[in-house]
Amino acid sequence: MKADLHVHGMSRDISSYSGDLGPFGEDILELERKLYNLPSLLNVAVSRGLDMIALTDFGHMGSFKVVKNDYSFRCSDDPQDWEGIFNYNGHCESEFEKEEIDKSSIRIKNENWDKPLVVLKGEEINTLQGEVIGIGLESLIEPGQRLKDTIDEIARQGAIIQFPHPLATFPGAGGIGLQNLEEAIDYCNVQNYPQMTEIKNGNLASPLNYFNYKTKKLVEKHLSDKTICVGNSDARGHTSKQWKKVGSIYTDFTELEEPSRDALRDYVLKKGKTEIYGKENNIFIVGAMMAPVVLKKIFGS
Ligand SMILES: [Zn+2]
Repeated sequence: MKADLHVHGMSRDISSYSGDLGPFGEDILELERKLYNLPSLLNVAVSRGLDMIALTDFGHMGSFKVVKNDYSFRCSDDPQDWEGIFNYNGHCESEFEKEEIDKSSIRIKNENWDKPLVVLKGEEINTLQGEVIGIGLESLIEPGQRLKDTIDEIARQGAIIQFPHPLATFPGAGGIGLQNLEEAIDYCNVQNYPQMTEIKNGNLASPLNYFNYKTKKLVEKHLSDKTICVGNSDARGHTSKQWKKVGSIYTDFTELEEPSRDALRDYVLKKGKTEIYGKENNIFIVGAMMAPVVLKKIFGS
């Protein structure tokens, strides 16, 4: 089963807004158009052969809500139109058949696809120690808590814990760092919580892919029997063209038989085999994405 379990659909939850202006005075129609990247993102995921993706926005679950409800599913079936925001025309009601598997996941089908895609509800959560991802969550977890408490809450919801880009601890990167990673993995194992470590992240382009390299070496040397390794695109559905990156890095859970949260959780608990495919992003794309965050960290807001 092939999965990209770290995908951002949109920067903020606009699915529940009403009125012409968003909370920051943005033109709501302009924002809505950005949502039209989501169907395109799903098309790309399927075209890359994925069986599962996890939508892991920061601090909200708007993308999953949008995919689950019919709100944004009006994209063109013509691949030429998959340019999302730039080619919005709203002329077509694409037929996506959706089936709720449980509170944390849905199965989507489209007549143009050769297999269905399972979409898992996730969240990338800022903790006091750095970022952690919950995959297959039932409800939102508040950011800003201790890492340990956040991990407890992810596990309590029956979801899977993922440590994204753990050794990328430079400003704006969000990694929890080596010591926290080791402690968190040990803690999860003692508690019998399902956890996995992202050793390849699509946004860590050369020379930042040094952090991928470092994580891989570390896990191979010290943690190989304690965690399972995954790679993800960390694609940004809300950034121009970035949604095309979904599945550019993915994990093959080689012996997983069924694409579902519970099967994945059992597989992770058993420390099943994984293989990682794909390449990191181009440095210029990453630079453009990271610049505002890094500048804010350096100069303050
Ligand atoms: Zn991310």
